[in-house]
Amino acid sequence: METKESDRYLCPLCGRKMLTVAETPYEIPKFGKILLINITCQHCRFHKSDVLALEYRGPTKCQFKVKSPKDLYAKVVRSSTGRIYIPEIGVEIFPGPAAQGFITNIEGVLARVKEIVEQLLRDSETEEERQAALKALDWLEKAMSGIIQFTLILEDPYGVSAIIPEE
Ligand SMILES: [Zn+2]
Repeated sequence: METKESDRYLCPLCGRKMLTVAETPYEIPKFGKILLINITCQHCRFHKSDVLALEYRGPTKCQFKVKSPKDLYAKVVRSSTGRIYIPEIGVEIFPGPAAQGFITNIEGVLARVKEIVEQLLRDSETEEERQAALKALDWLEKAMSGIIQFTLILEDPYGVSAIIPEE
């Protein structure tokens, strides 16, 4: 797909006119047309990405059960308005102004969760927090190698987020 790059804009973080906006349209089978937007400052590395739908959809809730390693390759479209939840470990990725939109697969979602948990481990102040983070990392490694089954739930009030199984 073709990426369209804009002129440069003022960066909200460093104030320099070094901000580029790249728009990439995608057509996802059984889902529709979406636009991936990447805003990047070439000076300070300010970055924001999001996914927009190019057609109206109502609220959606997808629940996907990972039963075998190949299920880890199901495509995940997550807009900044989408909430991702893994009930087996109580992990949640919240929507919000700082939320990033992305197109990845389930393995990619777990890799993002792993980064967050590794940060929590570095920031842990008590032994209890440290143990909880280590336990979550152990679970994530098993989940990423496809040896345990789990559920991924993705809800989006604007219907831009979805889990699309590999054919
Ligand atoms: Zn900047």
